[in-house]
Amino acid sequence: MHVEDIVEIIKKHLHINHENIKWGIIGVTELIKCPLRLWFEDKEQPIMTRQMYYGDLCHKALFTRLHPFTLSHIMYIEPELVYPVWCNGKNIHVIGRPDIVAIGNGKLKVIEVKFANVIVPEYFKQVAVYKLLARNKYWFKKEDTEGYIMQITDDGEIRIHKVEEEVDEEWIWYRACQLYEYFEKNEQPPPEKGDHCKYCPYRGRCTSKTLDEWEK
Ligand code: SF4
Repeated sequence: MHVEDIVEIIKKHLHINHENIKWGIIGVTELIKCPLRLWFEDKEQPIMTRQMYYGDLCHKALFTRLHPFTLSHIMYIEPELVYPVWCNGKNIHVIGRPDIVAIGNGKLKVIEVKFANVIVPEYFKQVAVYKLLARNKYWFKKEDTEGYIMQITDDGEIRIHKVEEEVDEEWIWYRACQLYEYFEKNEQPPPEKGDHCKYCPYRGRCTSKTLDEWEK
């Protein structure tokens, strides 16, 4: 075996596949990302950053320890939330797994844990979608549903961010149909610029700006 063969194997494992979208299954983490970034992840050479690995590993380590402590009917660890959407006669499913859903004092609390030094706006949108999906599943009113990001920094500090942001059902419907159509028709989406671009590993290849422009 040559080193080149090993590189090819590693590349395969780094690939972030979004084929599920064209089969009508869309994850909440896909719903809230820039569609062009998803496209790059799916079609182009993958870029898996150290930060992505780190977050993934820490997450697995924490939740393996938390699972035995799940108290059913009070705290759910990574519950599956499903939201069906009709798109041009096709039944699409938006699926989310928030880290923790807890019920107490008449409130439903959705908590997303992020091992990160920086909290990007996408995380707030992610929790906003989880809030809507969770209150649908557990039959809670909007005013009784709360969302939080629990940030764990590299030096172990825990910071809590309350998520006031909300999304409506129309937005989920519109976004899910839009993504489904891009992937189903194999059509490259346009760039969706925003603060999130600063953390996008594809910004050097993105058509919205050159790398030099992002660096300014
Ligand atoms: S740089 Fe911004 S607009 Fe371009 S792919 Fe990345 S997130 Fe999307």
